[in-house]
Amino acid sequence: MASLGNPTNTIAILQKYNFNFQKKFGQNFLIDANILQNIIDAAEVTKDDCVLEIGPGIGTMTQYLCENAREVVAVEIDKKLIPILENDTLAAYDNITIINEDILKVDINKIVQEKNGGKPIKVVANLPYYITTPIIMGLFESHVPLDSITIMVQKEVADRMQVGPGTKDYGALSLAVQYYAKPKVMLTVPASCFMPRPNVDSAVIRLTRYQNPPVMAKDEHFMFDIIRASFNQRRKTLVNGLTNAAGLKVTKEKVLNALEQMGLPATIRGEALTLEQFAQLSDIL
Ligand code: SAM
Repeated sequence: MASLGNPTNTIAILQKYNFNFQKKFGQNFLIDANILQNIIDAAEVTKDDCVLEIGPGIGTMTQYLCENAREVVAVEIDKKLIPILENDTLAAYDNITIINEDILKVDINKIVQEKNGGKPIKVVANLPYYITTPIIMGLFESHVPLDSITIMVQKEVADRMQVGPGTKDYGALSLAVQYYAKPKVMLTVPASCFMPRPNVDSAVIRLTRYQNPPVMAKDEHFMFDIIRASFNQRRKTLVNGLTNAAGLKVTKEKVLNALEQMGLPATIRGEALTLEQFAQLSDIL
């Protein structure tokens, strides 16, 4: 079985199985051995680890994961890739479980229970970019036992995850990620490292799950409803954003009172508030 971390072997597999890339599944396969090793290093994968890989593709990174981890579970939506993985590229490994499913529909908590006795796992993936946010939010919000998530994403999205208030990239994703984890961009990856080349620059970001979150909101869901409503209408004041949001059921008077209690001006916008301030606002409301 050939190592896939180079273009020649990848092309050989694609030709052997007459595989056509599916744009709708965000298929851009890695073809750079250095980058692959850097991702494994960034994730600090060891023989103690159970790793979940989202979207193994033809198994390029999966081979590295199988070599370095105790146990690997790979969830792939494209059924055409399954025989390639099972009969060819991953056939030599006995520590891999391949699941042909949509990651957004899989019960990941059940996998963690079965494969790791409910103990925290590591997620490592070169994500399909069209569903980056729902995948990350799904992992956090369903409280999957997690040690860390090390993922390749669009560079711009990686930036959004680690910025603070007052910058143009700051938004609901920054706050959600920073509530659950400590983000760190580990490396940037040029389009030439993928086949086919994506139209955007990419970056590997590591999100290390907090054991104890830096702030605690009494009602996590309500706080995230407030955060989403605040950024839905970016150019509006926080007061207008929250009172216009259907379903939130807060009056203008209540929001104004809360801001006064917090010592914030009535004209403030959502993008100026820190995570701590959103938690405080949510608790007051
Ligand atoms: N890991 C491979 C690599 O690095 O070369 C492939 C990465 S490619 C960017 C994304 C992979 O995710 C593709 O194999 C694609 O078919 C798969 N995928 C797309 N949507 C998915 C979903 N909803 N659930 C599981 N896998 C998905």
